[in-house]
Amino acid sequence: MEYFLNDLQKTVKQMARTIAEEKILPVRAELDEKEEFPWTIIKDLADTDLLGVFIPEEYGGLGGGCFELCLVIEELSRVCAGVAVSYAVNSLGSFTLLEYGRQEQKRKYLPDIASGKRLAAFAITEETAGSDVSAIKTTAIRKDGGYLINGAKQFITNGGEADIYTIIALTDKERGIRGASAFLVEKNTPGFSFGRKEKKLGIRASVTRELVFEDCLVPEENIIGREGMGFAMALRLFDRSRPGIGAQAVGLAQGALEAAVDYAKKRIQFGQPIVSFQAVGHMLANMAADVEAARALVYSTARTIDSGAKNFSMESAMAKVFASDAAMRVTTDAVQIFGGLGYMRDYPIEKMMRDAKITQIYEGTNQILRNVITSELRKKKVF
Ligand SMILES: Cc1cc2nc3c(=O)[nH]c(=O)nc-3n(C[C@H](O)[C@H](O)[C@H](O)COP(=O)(O)OP(=O)(O)OC[C@H]3O[C@@H](n4cnc5c(N)ncnc54)[C@H](O)[C@@H]3O)c2cc1C
Repeated sequence: MEYFLNDLQKTVKQMARTIAEEKILPVRAELDEKEEFPWTIIKDLADTDLLGVFIPEEYGGLGGGCFELCLVIEELSRVCAGVAVSYAVNSLGSFTLLEYGRQEQKRKYLPDIASGKRLAAFAITEETAGSDVSAIKTTAIRKDGGYLINGAKQFITNGGEADIYTIIALTDKERGIRGASAFLVEKNTPGFSFGRKEKKLGIRASVTRELVFEDCLVPEENIIGREGMGFAMALRLFDRSRPGIGAQAVGLAQGALEAAVDYAKKRIQFGQPIVSFQAVGHMLANMAADVEAARALVYSTARTIDSGAKNFSMESAMAKVFASDAAMRVTTDAVQIFGGLGYMRDYPIEKMMRDAKITQIYEGTNQILRNVITSELRKKKVF
């Protein structure tokens, strides 16, 4: 399929592919095995300016948008979705600042994020608040010219590795969903520490940790936007970031498809390559169609967002749901095509299947996102 990429898009895609093949491929099994944060690769991505692909040029970025970001995430995920999410969360941790931050805040943080000097992360999830983010308990109470933060966030990607955290906390417990606000919290702020590092099924090259706030005082100027805007900003953030998870899923599925085709051409059974069996060919055909359909939806959603559209909740949810379900189907079938070897850790296929599962869970489970799609369809009076 021809997607008519412009020069910047072709360049960032090629740069990401080169890093994926030259730097990530040789170490991906080791990163997965050791569950290590890929600092060396993050440095390589910083050296090529790809960390700032979505940041405007005036803050030191490449000036791209959601689409360019998706192209990079897809290429990295084709080789390792764990590295890709460590990269992608840098944007998740920056989008709220980019869209709602004050000029001084943007000048203070964005150039460092663009250059890779400081990594960003985003934290809303808590033990009691997963799909139901309105159940958060972390508080940020005005005190001594700042906000005193108390509580804990769980499952935070890049937790402990990132330097700048956008967190959502309650500034007014009584107001529920309208009482939440967004804050920038820097690593090393007194009262801010890191708890348990999770042991995961997949995306093991990424780090998922608990954040702990115990009387952590952040200056008043670290609030993003106004008090009470936290949830609205978080929902908007996810609308913007979900195509990135779709791109992660597309890259994963593409990598699995390529590996399956390669294997099916080489594996001989009953005197012929297994690709010549119709049953295998049909699986590959379904996989190829899934990948292309998911890619088309993710790209057109990203382009819609970059065009300045006001409401893209439904498109964004559809792109994430469709692509992640497709990635799960494609990686599962890829394991099937590899037969017994697909189940062995000597081959990358089982890792791709493990990695794919998370795309159906984070940034809104696919059940929650189907609720979003249903509610948007109702608003449009489709039913
Ligand atoms: C590896 C990893 C990385 C993550 N990174 C981050 C991060 O960087 N920052 C961050 O803030 N969070 C992060 N998360 C949290 C993630 O977004 C949540 O795990 C996710 O939103 C689901 O919440 P939950 O795990 O509490 O599941 P629950 O909300 O408890 O859901 C359990 C099940 O119930 C279903 N369910 C719940 N409510 C409904 C409903 N109303 N209708 C239908 N079904 C429903 C769900 O779909 C799911 O199947 C991460 C999670 C993981 C696993």
